[in-house]
Amino acid sequence: MTSKAAVLKSEAEIEIMAEANRIVAQTLAMLRERIKPGVTTAQLDAWAEEYARECEAVPAFKGYRGFPGNLCVSVNEQVVHGIPSRKVVLHSGDIVSIDFGVKWRGFFGDAAITVPVGTVSPQVAELIKVTRESLDRAIDQMKVGNRINDISRAVQDHVEGQGFAVVRQFVGHGIGRQLHEPPEIPNYVRSNGSPRLVAGMVLAIEPMVNLGTSAVKVLSDGWTVITADRKYSAHFEHSVAVTENGPRILSTLG
Ligand code: MG
Repeated sequence: MTSKAAVLKSEAEIEIMAEANRIVAQTLAMLRERIKPGVTTAQLDAWAEEYARECEAVPAFKGYRGFPGNLCVSVNEQVVHGIPSRKVVLHSGDIVSIDFGVKWRGFFGDAAITVPVGTVSPQVAELIKVTRESLDRAIDQMKVGNRINDISRAVQDHVEGQGFAVVRQFVGHGIGRQLHEPPEIPNYVRSNGSPRLVAGMVLAIEPMVNLGTSAVKVLSDGWTVITADRKYSAHFEHSVAVTENGPRILSTLG
């Protein structure tokens, strides 16, 4: 693992990033209300783009390494990086992960939620709940002096303690003037090196949690990541600043 140093942000830069991330959070909240059986993932993508433009923010994912959508929309066994499509219609019992990013005044915001469509099975509802809880527990560890591994351990312990599996091939990341900055934030404990958290870091924490195996593969479209056993997967993400007063979640409506 290369351990390039994180790019630290000033308090003024963190305020700009809070605004960028608020736009992302507002977009996700709007989409959550509109997710229901019959809606296509292309429609969600169009709503996200429209809202970001109203806010004078630029959707960050479209064109990123050639990604074709504004939104990553990952349904059921899709883990992350699903491509919006008019052919993908949501049905009751599905779950849909929506991951959105914008660039605003030179800085990026990035967050994700997983939303049940109609009525989902109790096991799938539990998967969503545990994934969301693991993000909260990870953020609780974002104190000056702790290490990246404390974040990783919080996710891994909670998820595996509930009988689910964390994805290892994809990880969280620093965020700022670049969508993806050092350091990597794995959702499992790595034995080789773990930077200490310092004030001014802004990190996108994003547990990806599977019902069955942790193994994933990429579809032939070159983007869509699915679980190897085709069982459901959930994903939540917040962009969070490390401050002397503790973690500050930037991707919120507040
Ligand atoms: Mg991210």
